Formats: sequence, C-alpha cells, structure tokens
Amino acid sequence: MKLLIASGNRHKVAEIAKLLQRTSWEVCSLSDFPDVELPPEDAPDFAGNARIKAAYAAHVTGLWTLADDSGLAVDYLDGAPGVRSARYAGEQKDDNANNQKLLQALRDCPKDKRTARFICALSLVSPTGEEFTAQGVCEGTIGYAERGELGFGYDPLFIMADGLHTMAELDMAAKNQVSHRARALAALLPTLLEIAKGE
Ligand code: IMP
Repeated sequence: MKLLIASGNRHKVAEIAKLLQRTSWEVCSLSDFPDVELPPEDAPDFAGNARIKAAYAAHVTGLWTLADDSGLAVDYLDGAPGVRSARYAGEQKDDNANNQKLLQALRDCPKDKRTARFICALSLVSPTGEEFTAQGVCEGTIGYAERGELGFGYDPLFIMADGLHTMAELDMAAKNQVSHRARALAALLPTLLEIAKGE
C-alpha cells in the first residue's frame, strides 16, 4: 500500500523510508507529485504544521499521507529556533546560515547552559481525513563548531546525550536508532501496521 511522505526534504524522506522498509508500506514522496504545492506552515506548533501538510496532501492525492514537522529547541534561547528552525536565518532555508546564526546567538552561553532538543511531530492522514499523530524528542547540547558531514540541518552542531558525537557523525542507521523522527515513527508504527493489515 502506498504512503505519501508530504515533504520536499529528501533527508527526511530517506530517513522515514528506511524506518519503514520492513513494512508493507510502499513509500513515495512529493517528488512523485511535482504539481502538489504544500500550503504555508503557519501553525504555532510542530503538530499543527504537520497536520496542515498531511491533511492537504492526503486530500489532493487521495493517498494515506505522513507529514513530519520538526525542529530544534534551545533552552538558552527560550525554545528558539523552534517552529522557525528551517527559516531561522531567512526564507532561503539555508542550513549553513542557520548554523552560523545559532553559534552567534550562543556565543556568550556557557557550556552547561547549551542544552537543546530536536522535536518531531508526525501527522498521518487517511484519504478520508482521519488523523493519527505522534511526537518524538531527542535530547542533546549545542557544540561550539560544526562537526561531521552526514545528516542535514543542525546535525553538525547537535551533540548527542553521550557527549561524544554530533548527529552529523552518525550514519543514517545509527541516527535512526535515536533520533526524534525515529522515536515519533516508532510511536506511530503500531497504527501504520494495523492500517496495512486491514487494507
Ligand atoms: P520543516 O521542514 O519545516 O519541518 O523544518 C525542519 C527544520 O528543522 C530543518 O530544516 C532543520 O533545520 C531542522 N531539523 C529537523 N529535523 C532535523 C534533523 O533530524 N537534523 C537536523 N536538523 C533538523
């Protein structure tokens, strides 16, 4: 059965596809639907934005649709960049500019105050508009310089709870053991398996 991942972010799509590879869901993405343009993500929280994307894409394609809305919440910045994570340094959604802006915002922040978490909200919407949701969190701290070449977004600045590696030093299999996205999907997996069984 087909599952549309309502995202234009190829990294997110790849991570989710890998997590679902042992299920009977056949994953496709918005790159298979070039005419579908998602509405603006103007909700105040991750769950609301995930719902906007999933509900719209399920409605126009008639497919079961999963949308991810995620970001980084830094305690020293009162939860910023939060829902603005992708556009923190501007509308161009530039990962490198976002990371430089974050380092600058934390230039006076001492080591013990650099705690942060990645948050992922997932919304699964049926072709008839029924919705299932889940959330996952991954705790860590923000480093002083980018480290690692893998992943995307804030991964090179995000030091895992073990204090050793940044998220960008983990390959996809390792990231998928611990990430906010993997945890949210694990919470939604029983629902996804149940739906696939019934179809
Ligand atoms: P969205 O596509 O509107 O949900 O924006 C997500 C943004 O949050 C991305 O552009 C990244 O900046 C950040 N983000 C979300 N998940 C991750 C992750 O797994 N690693 C690094 N950055 C992430």
